[in-house]
Amino acid sequence: MLRFRMNRPPRTRFPSPLSLPQGLSWSLLSALLWLGLASCDFGTGVRQAQFIVFGTQVDVSVRGVGEDQASEAFAQLQQDFLAMHRDWHAWEPGLLHDINEAFASGLPARADPAIVEMVKASQALEALSGGRFNPAIGALIELWGFHTSDYPVYGPPPSPLAIDALVAQRPSTRDIQVDGLLLSSGNTAVQLDFGGIAKGYAIDLACQRLRAFGVENAIVNAGGDLRAIGDHGDRPWRVAIRDPRGGIVGSLETRGDEAVFTSGNYERFREDEQLRYPHILDPRTGWPVVELSSVTVIADDGLLADAAATALIVAGPAEWAEVARTMDLAEVLVVDAKGRVFQTPAMAERVALVDGVESETVNVSVAP
Ligand code: ADP
Ligand code: MG
Repeated sequence: MLRFRMNRPPRTRFPSPLSLPQGLSWSLLSALLWLGLASCDFGTGVRQAQFIVFGTQVDVSVRGVGEDQASEAFAQLQQDFLAMHRDWHAWEPGLLHDINEAFASGLPARADPAIVEMVKASQALEALSGGRFNPAIGALIELWGFHTSDYPVYGPPPSPLAIDALVAQRPSTRDIQVDGLLLSSGNTAVQLDFGGIAKGYAIDLACQRLRAFGVENAIVNAGGDLRAIGDHGDRPWRVAIRDPRGGIVGSLETRGDEAVFTSGNYERFREDEQLRYPHILDPRTGWPVVELSSVTVIADDGLLADAAATALIVAGPAEWAEVARTMDLAEVLVVDAKGRVFQTPAMAERVALVDGVESETVNVSVAP
């Protein structure tokens, strides 16, 4: 797992008031979450650290700060990621789990500012995406067996009757009332699952935290989903766009502060002898979406880019351009199930496609 040199042990202290699930020790979690400090690249002055959050490796690179400043910022990020993992998890015991239990019993629950922020953002994004992005469908995601870190999931799909019964209850973030930090749901079928935005918001908060530590140039990259701030010395940060069939479709250079997120149907799925059922569901039918393999979105922040990529993959080949227009997304790249690439004009202008990959330009009429 360690793919870089450790030049010294991380200086990390954990705050004592945080409680852990039974059986987990801080030292174990520390080992799971902090993979160490990379050596500084003296050519570019870039310092790096790697973390594991939500089961994904997150690479953080910062430029233009000294070793002490970088390691203090990294130690704080480790604590932040640890808290997010604990508080936002959709199926492990923790704050979100408690909130979901309260919703199911028709009771109010106390959240924290980050969850309240995600609920409010989700309400706006669910409406804007015409219900295609909807993190209130946690019960459906669980029914499909996608509350797991072990992919692929094997076995036939759930019974259509069970799917229809959950869809008929129309869980929506609209059902959630927010009163300060207090959340309540008028619909007992609402179960929050932030799998479609948690990575995006975590990366936004990490960038905010880095800025508070005086870091002006950084890239926070969770396996190709990333946000960049500032630049990489005399050149921008260059990032790759994954090809659902393996390898990369192309690459682009980030411009100042922006986020690049891809939603894919090719890594996480359920399968039986006949078919694959990917992990992104159309909340309106309760069934996985299969017509697009991946959608890449560039937006101002991680939360929007992450949610938008999920919304557009649900929108599918016939509707993604229209939903992009409604959501005011100018930079989108889509790969369909046959491997064909489509891009908005503003995206096409920025992406250097790899040799042999061709794309069709689709106008969405949004000012870049
Ligand atoms: P990726 O895993 O490629 O980053 P996403 O960002 O789209 O993809 O996140 C997928 C996760 O979002 C799923 O595992 C599930 O937790 C949740 N999810 C699935 N369908 C939806 C949906 N229609 N709206 C909101 N969240 C969803
Ligand atoms: Mg997403």
